[in-house]
Amino acid sequence: MADEWRRYLAQQIELGGSEIVLSEAGKRGSRAAGEAGTARHSERSKESAGQTPYRDLDTTSHESIPRSARDDVRVPAAEPSVPPPDHPLTRRASGGWRKGAPPIPGPGMAVESPEHNLLGDDLVSLATLEEVATRIRTTHCCGLCTYRANAVPGEGDPNARLVLVGEGPGATEDSTGRPFVGQAGVLLNGILEAIEVPRDSVYITNIIKCRPPQNRKPLPDEIAACIPYLHRQLEIIRPKVIVALGGTAGEALLGVRKSLGELRNKVHTYNGIPLVVTYHPAALLRNPNWKKPTWDDVRIVRQLLDR
Ligand code: URA
Repeated sequence: MADEWRRYLAQQIELGGSEIVLSEAGKRGSRAAGEAGTARHSERSKESAGQTPYRDLDTTSHESIPRSARDDVRVPAAEPSVPPPDHPLTRRASGGWRKGAPPIPGPGMAVESPEHNLLGDDLVSLATLEEVATRIRTTHCCGLCTYRANAVPGEGDPNARLVLVGEGPGATEDSTGRPFVGQAGVLLNGILEAIEVPRDSVYITNIIKCRPPQNRKPLPDEIAACIPYLHRQLEIIRPKVIVALGGTAGEALLGVRKSLGELRNKVHTYNGIPLVVTYHPAALLRNPNWKKPTWDDVRIVRQLLDR
């Protein structure tokens, strides 16, 4: 049996398997192939949970393998032939977010984006998000561009059904050229995960594309200079739903001066596209009491996506 087990493992090495920890009893080959499969799945789920990717094979079969029998021999394991249960390909939407979700609220404002020729730009000639991004990276449209390490045009699926719009890049975004990759981004990822929307299925951008000094609020003339890019991005994507993260993004998209309280809990429309305004993730880091209302807002967004 030991030979059979060794042959099996050698075969898995050839197939390019990754490393796992195997117990002495496992080496004896009590349940060779079946056990190895179970252990590999456990490895994956731990890895995805951010824990150590190694574990003892015998923890999956307590009855037959005493803990004292471990010798922590590391051997490679094969890629699983079917995705593990926690893999996005096999994971079923749990719909857990639905429990206690508020109903979709009534309509708010209905706005149309300004014509590009009124804004004095030629952005209609840019047909793709990549062209818009190149223009952003190569143009200086206001004072903020002078001090940027990188412009942050936005990123995500060009066919996204959901677009999230923040205020402006912070330090991590400025140094990487990517939106929402700092602390607020980590929280945003968690929010998206909670409503079962993969981050790579959405498009994430900001009303201004360069970082303001000390992360201050963008000034009206900085927003005015930069927002035509956002209007063009939204024209190209034509998402099903837009979320403004924070009052500043809400005001800029809707072209009004109103408090977040006045803008929240309504379904506005932007060029006919439902638009919801919620708290900025950075605000939630400062005040966790806003997490519950944000959770309600994003569950409204999730229902709008399902409509
Ligand atoms: N805050 C924002 O508004 N945008 C980012 O990209 C990051 C933090």
